[in-house]
Amino acid sequence: MLFPVTVLAQDCDILIINGKIIDGTGNNWYYGNVAVKNGKIIKTGRDVNFSAKKTIDARGFIVAPGFIDVHTHLEGNEAKNPEATNFILDGVTTCVTGNCGASETDIKKYLTWIDSLQLSVNVATLIGHNDVRKAVMGRANRDATPDELKQMEAIVDKAMQDGAVGFSTGLIYIPGTYTKTPEIVVLAKVAAKYNGLYATHMRDEGDSITFAIEEALTVGRLAKIPVEISHFKLSGQHNWGRSKETVPMIEAARREGIEVTIDQYPYTASSTSISTLIPDEILADEQDSINARLQRPEIRKQVINSMLERLKKRKLKHFSYAVVSNFIPDTSYNGKSIEQINLLKGRKHTAREEALTVIDILMQGGANAVFHGMSDADVKRIMQYPFNMFASDASIRVLNLGMPHPRGYGTNARVLAKYVREEKVISLEEAIRRMTSLPAQKFQLKDRGLIMEGMAADIVIFDEKEVQDISTYEKPHAYSKGFYYVIVNGVLTVENERHLGVKAGKALYHQSYL
Ligand SMILES: [Zn+2]
Repeated sequence: MLFPVTVLAQDCDILIINGKIIDGTGNNWYYGNVAVKNGKIIKTGRDVNFSAKKTIDARGFIVAPGFIDVHTHLEGNEAKNPEATNFILDGVTTCVTGNCGASETDIKKYLTWIDSLQLSVNVATLIGHNDVRKAVMGRANRDATPDELKQMEAIVDKAMQDGAVGFSTGLIYIPGTYTKTPEIVVLAKVAAKYNGLYATHMRDEGDSITFAIEEALTVGRLAKIPVEISHFKLSGQHNWGRSKETVPMIEAARREGIEVTIDQYPYTASSTSISTLIPDEILADEQDSINARLQRPEIRKQVINSMLERLKKRKLKHFSYAVVSNFIPDTSYNGKSIEQINLLKGRKHTAREEALTVIDILMQGGANAVFHGMSDADVKRIMQYPFNMFASDASIRVLNLGMPHPRGYGTNARVLAKYVREEKVISLEEAIRRMTSLPAQKFQLKDRGLIMEGMAADIVIFDEKEVQDISTYEKPHAYSKGFYYVIVNGVLTVENERHLGVKAGKALYHQSYL
């Protein structure tokens, strides 16, 4: 008797067919199919023959791992837009937050909350030095006592046990500016004990950048911890071209055995608090103390002189390079330069009066600003360094709120459009590697960043000819184009460039420790 033989096709949740797969390793694209089931990639290749609830015909499209943005600032905006549309429509499926020394201090509570809120992106976090220090000693401008240092170590220790992926500093911000290297080394050692990394917004990204890089490397050397230098750049017109000095420093450090990598956003403007224009010693303690200092005529004079000196160094006559992005007391300032705001206030068209305008803004609680101060040649030279990843340095954007830097909407699309397709600075496969497996390896997101069997199914499907950043400095609130499908943890989140409102992201705990 013959038994009928039926070969049942295996079933899966999503089957992606006919795409050009770029797997994230840096290897060339290949034609193939990808089967996704229960949040995982279960099969890849030409011979994938599955029956699926959902089939995506990716003919003509690139199929790549979801992008990992290692430098974000989600804190504060998670609940305002849990769909994280600016990230998702730029191909980002995982964000690392807690950067530049700014994070929640109770990481367990934070990650639990992230899971209960549910975002459309996965979230991993660092523990931020500035918030750790503030929790113990406020904004005090002094060294920590041995007892205070012990308290800070305990907070970092608990954060690492609770799943932080590393320790971050923001050494241009208060109170990071008041912190000397030995304190950072002690705290970085705690993160190193749990196999975390050290991510730093360095003490300087302009005139003193080589000293700042040395400091970051010293922490790596002494604490025996992998180092990530955040948003690597050269600020200030007079520093343009110095990536010829700084990139070789990174190469030399690696030869020495320091596990250092860098990241960048692909723009020639930065964005941060306007307080960075003011000398650090003015910014200690709370707003009342800051205002009291700024009201004293002799201090006011010193502050103005120091601001004018810095402007002169930049070879600029006006504060036109600083554009307010979010000033809460008067939103009509948003999108205007300090030069323009100063004129609107009826003041004289001089840098001295513009400095006064900055002081006024600061005394009203400060503002965020976009600073146009880098060269495209440096951006490209840094981009050509192979162990540089792309990161937005952005928050979750709330549509039409303020005039934020376009990097929050368009970082990845801009790399793929301007720097890969148009200017051919790096290849498509190389760009994808920097957006996926490189950050996954460095931040130890071990089951992400590759299109490979067994990996988490974070996948983007985009048109390499169409992909484009739309967000600009003048009109920032615009989503990138060309990302037709985005899958997060095996769940279809974007279809035909439209966010479906799906929130399938989860908190990612530090895997190497847990
Ligand atoms: Zn930063």
